[in-house]
Amino acid sequence: MVRKQDDFFQGVESEFAKFREKMKDALPGSDWNPLNIHSGLPPERADIVIVGGGAVGWSTAYWLKKKERVRDGVRVLVVEKDPTYSKSSTVLSIGGIRQQFSMPENIHMSMYSAFFLRNINEYLGVANGDPVDVQFNPSGYLFLASEDGASTMEENYQTQRHEGAKVELLSPEELKNKFPWINTEGIVLASYGLENEGWLDPWSLLNAFRRKALSMGVYHCHGEVTGFSCSSRELVSAEGDPVMYKRISHVNVRMPYSLEYQPVECAVVVNAAGPWSGEVAEMVGVGSGPPQTMAGVKLPVEPKKRYSHSVALPLSMGKDLGFVLDTPAVNPKRFPDAGFWVKGGHSDNEEEPEVTDLEVDHKFFEDKVWPKLAFRIPAFESLKMKSAWAGYYDYNTFDQNAILGMHPLINNLFFATGFSGHGLQQSPAAGRAIAELILDGGFQTIDLNALSFERVYLEKKALEKNIV
Ligand SMILES: Cc1cc2nc3c(=O)[nH]c(=O)nc-3n(C[C@H](O)[C@H](O)[C@H](O)COP(=O)(O)OP(=O)(O)OC[C@H]3O[C@@H](n4cnc5c(N)ncnc54)[C@H](O)[C@@H]3O)c2cc1C
Repeated sequence: MVRKQDDFFQGVESEFAKFREKMKDALPGSDWNPLNIHSGLPPERADIVIVGGGAVGWSTAYWLKKKERVRDGVRVLVVEKDPTYSKSSTVLSIGGIRQQFSMPENIHMSMYSAFFLRNINEYLGVANGDPVDVQFNPSGYLFLASEDGASTMEENYQTQRHEGAKVELLSPEELKNKFPWINTEGIVLASYGLENEGWLDPWSLLNAFRRKALSMGVYHCHGEVTGFSCSSRELVSAEGDPVMYKRISHVNVRMPYSLEYQPVECAVVVNAAGPWSGEVAEMVGVGSGPPQTMAGVKLPVEPKKRYSHSVALPLSMGKDLGFVLDTPAVNPKRFPDAGFWVKGGHSDNEEEPEVTDLEVDHKFFEDKVWPKLAFRIPAFESLKMKSAWAGYYDYNTFDQNAILGMHPLINNLFFATGFSGHGLQQSPAAGRAIAELILDGGFQTIDLNALSFERVYLEKKALEKNIV
């Protein structure tokens, strides 16, 4: 009997349905539900334990699996103490991405991230899952410079162009033509991003990394890393001095609502604990040695509180604005549908707010941020506040730049932290960089040696001039 064409297609569809179900079972993360919090014990052994399941931790987990040469060749465990992410930097971030940095390393990391985001489904799509949509809104950053900052802006521009970023410089007249609502008083130069800048939804990016990593076989557990067991041995340096080397053998994970902890035997640990990575490093003894020695150098990362304010967008303003960066304390950002967001924070010379809670200091906005905002954009002289929140920067007190790489004396401890205000956008590149260090023994794609931990001991700052 000859089958009719309709029967044939029905047959194919039912075969596909069976195949999809099978794939679903084979890929544990493909139907991951964010409300289904995993609370099981961690495995007793893992090759690599990642402390912290923010964007950086999950990106690292994803890249480790992507780069493994044999399927299931690397057993990766992500430990996250707060699966609601109520205080994590990632979800409280504004989600901006820009190419306008002064250090080639930062420019390249963000350029790579823009490429990654454009092709995100090729990286993070999962079989049988919805396509990833991180709601990327392309829109340029606008940096403004006074007389004092103009030559630095010009230098940065030359570096950015040299490294391949598409940026233009604007005179005050050109600036006024492009953005008529800006008060150009005191501005002598502006730079504007023409490509690869904008913003995205941080929560969607985090979930996309996580869903993909789980589908590739990464283990995860809800628990808090509270300590480490290490072995140590003394070696003699080239100068003949005794040096104590350590190696982590176990990570202790305290289970939720319990005083019990489960030791996880491991070969490598990645500290991706964001604002808390300084604390986690202390648990391994980082910084506990004599002053002026490598063993005495702390990981200089701590939480610093920064505010975001959402205000209604005045109708008189045009549509093509991303971020305007005028002073360290005023970084407005525009969302076409949501209004105007102002990222306010304390600059270095102001008193830092307490980090014991995530309350918003509205007076800070009124006294410090709003006057500067209204001066630069007079349409904001009257404004309607829609909402506000605070979050913690994973703040590197040494030079406000990422710390990526191995601890020189604890040779199975890696850092992926200290990004300060630019970690979300660097998470794709940072995760890849750490996976390269662990699996290939060195950076393969972007040379990030300038961001190593050693620089803190050597007092050699990785000075990024465009810190936001
Ligand atoms: C208001 C604000 C605006 C920002 N805007 C931008 C921006 O526009 N662009 C940009 O690129 N970046 C921005 N950032 C910075 C960016 O959000 C961070 O650099 C980035 O998210 C850091 O990611 P992470 O994974 O390292 O840290 P997190 O997201 O904080 O993740 C670390 C995780 O580790 C967990 N953890 C900590 N200690 C332990 C432990 N002992 N055991 C187990 N788990 C632990 C924490 O619960 C946390 O979930 C902003 C940040 C803030 C606060």
